[in-house]
Amino acid sequence: MSDCLFCKIVAKEVPADIVLEAGRALAFRDVNPQAPTHVLVVPKAHHENAAVLAAADDGLADDLLKACHAVAVQEGVAETGYRIVFNTGPGAGQTVFHVHAHVLGGRGLTWPPG
Ligand code: 5GP
Ligand code: ZN
Repeated sequence: MSDCLFCKIVAKEVPADIVLEAGRALAFRDVNPQAPTHVLVVPKAHHENAAVLAAADDGLADDLLKACHAVAVQEGVAETGYRIVFNTGPGAGQTVFHVHAHVLGGRGLTWPPG
């Protein structure tokens, strides 16, 4: 998608602080971090949201989840605990419509979130 910010990051047309490239997934730091670790994990292929990704049923959702855990290990938050969030739809706060998992950790995380 030529007008998609995260497709441009995947294509390296927009700079990002990339922390992991794992097959069909790419992970980079959120520009406005909400925790000491705040990494966005995206499939390189464009899918609008988590529901569309799940419906694609080609193993990509599995790859994305595994990449999230690999990021947590690499960031040193796998032992202390971390959160994976998919904001899905505008009502849930999704603002970039290329599916992305937020991997958050490095501080205490309350539940339920705001
Ligand atoms: P959403 O609200 O869609 O779940 O999350 C979008 C996330 O993308 C936000 O946390 C926002 O800070 C992040 N973001 C927006 N623009 C950019 C950018 O240009 N680069 C990076 N690395 N993150 C961005
Ligand atoms: Zn995209």
